[in-house]
Amino acid sequence: MTTTYPPAERAAQAREAEAHLATSGIDGVVFGWVDNAGITRVKSVPLAQLEHAAEHGVGAVPCFEVSLVDDSFTSTPSSTGPVGDLRLVPDLDRLAPLAAQPGWAWAPADRYAQDGTPHPGCQRGFARRITEAIERRGFSVRAGIEIEWVVADATGAPATTAPGFGMTRFIEHSDYLREVLRALTAQGLAVLQLHPEYAAGQFEVSVAAEGPVEAADTAILVRHTIRAVSARRGLRVSYAPLFTEGAVGNGGHLHLSLWRDGRNLGHGGPGRHGLHPEAEHFLAGALAELPALLALGTPSVASYLRLVPSHYAGAYRCWGLENREAALRLIAGSAAGQANAEFKCFDAAANPYLAIGGVLAAGLAGLAAGLPLPPETVGDPAALDGAERLPASLPEAIDAYEKSAVLRQALGPELYETVLAVRRAEAELFAMRTDAEVIDATRWRY
Ligand code: GLU
Ligand code: MG
Repeated sequence: MTTTYPPAERAAQAREAEAHLATSGIDGVVFGWVDNAGITRVKSVPLAQLEHAAEHGVGAVPCFEVSLVDDSFTSTPSSTGPVGDLRLVPDLDRLAPLAAQPGWAWAPADRYAQDGTPHPGCQRGFARRITEAIERRGFSVRAGIEIEWVVADATGAPATTAPGFGMTRFIEHSDYLREVLRALTAQGLAVLQLHPEYAAGQFEVSVAAEGPVEAADTAILVRHTIRAVSARRGLRVSYAPLFTEGAVGNGGHLHLSLWRDGRNLGHGGPGRHGLHPEAEHFLAGALAELPALLALGTPSVASYLRLVPSHYAGAYRCWGLENREAALRLIAGSAAGQANAEFKCFDAAANPYLAIGGVLAAGLAGLAAGLPLPPETVGDPAALDGAERLPASLPEAIDAYEKSAVLRQALGPELYETVLAVRRAEAELFAMRTDAEVIDATRWRY
């Protein structure tokens, strides 16, 4: 479990890291955090400043609490405009030299107030808080996020139109994919699979499950790495929900399993497909809050251009074994450790800390209430009477989010309000735009 250390311990950790990084030719460290719009923002320090930065943090402008996808800003009662400062503190437990950005290392950062108290708007802190709440109840969670991306040439056109999942596409980009694989592996990431996806230019990578905060960190690092490898080859990368109007989009599927005493509660239990009662309650909690959770996991106006039926995006509020049109796909796996639930509806415009923390909070509420898991959906929900669509637009998801007492309570007043303000502002930003204009405005932002 990712933990936080007091300043003196962080400084000691940084001194050790500095010595090691210096011998590996690292000149500087970049600290990253993801804003409420899903954009990774960064600052960097030269290696000689790492100790100071780890102990005291580096300054972060509070306006990025309310930044939008187009780099404009909204506001909330708690936002301070041009005034004030937050401290970005790198988590050196996750420090990684960047294989495709020689001379640079990366660390995810938490945000603190200047007095050293955790910043209530810190999304990573939120994910950590909820993870700890689950652990206090005797459970643990393993998570992983699949990354889909479209690789494009310098003109912005998909770099391959060879068949989806096809060997031709793989051969065309064999050296590129090898570099991606090598860079991820060199950074200590446990790649499970790498393959050509369906849409033009699309590929996908999956990594091994780990703790929730670590899984969010990994998702961010994987994306940076793929982008950096691509940039070195003159290629561009898009993780946007939709690259081409009407096509299949880029998902950011979240896989989760709930564990107790070393046992996966999604396997070998008396419930449907081997679910244990606690896993059923947890999934029921997530399903109950799913419309509201879309405000965290599919946060962009563009997200709803992807989240449509018959695109394997999980546009229906239901669950089913290996059902790729259900928002919640249950994966039995061939071994106890593999069983998990896949939240297919989410995409990579999401701040992964918000998406994971939100799902865990909803699952925890389901556990606490002993919520029953509704009947399974068998077959394509589009063909079934009464199948419930998830919100079909960002304003609809915002409505559900505003009604969610579970998310309001879990996020805390400041983060809850800030997310709401950012969602409303983006809905307004794009309210008068055509689908094509929304896609154009978001294609290269995430
Ligand atoms: N690209 C699809 C999406 O938008 C997912 C395809 C799949 O991996 O099932 O989520
Ligand atoms: Mg896929």
